[in-house]
Amino acid sequence: MLDLDGNSPKISLPVCNGCNRHIMPGDNNVKFICPECPDELIWRCGSCREAAAPYKCESCGFSGP
Ligand SMILES: [Zn+2]
Ligand SMILES: [Zn+2]
Repeated sequence: MLDLDGNSPKISLPVCNGCNRHIMPGDNNVKFICPECPDELIWRCGSCREAAAPYKCESCGFSGP
């Protein structure tokens, strides 16, 4: 029997920049680096891609389709 002691690793899923929902593996999502800041990774889920929902970089405020 497994003894869960509370040290189980947390799975942190990336969050969609457009709708703030968790990105699920296998979804038609995409990730890319912000054009303005090379350290900022932007995730978009499949539905936001289809809807061409705008995204906004949290660091520099850059937004685009
Ligand atoms: Zn989304
Ligand atoms: Zn940025």
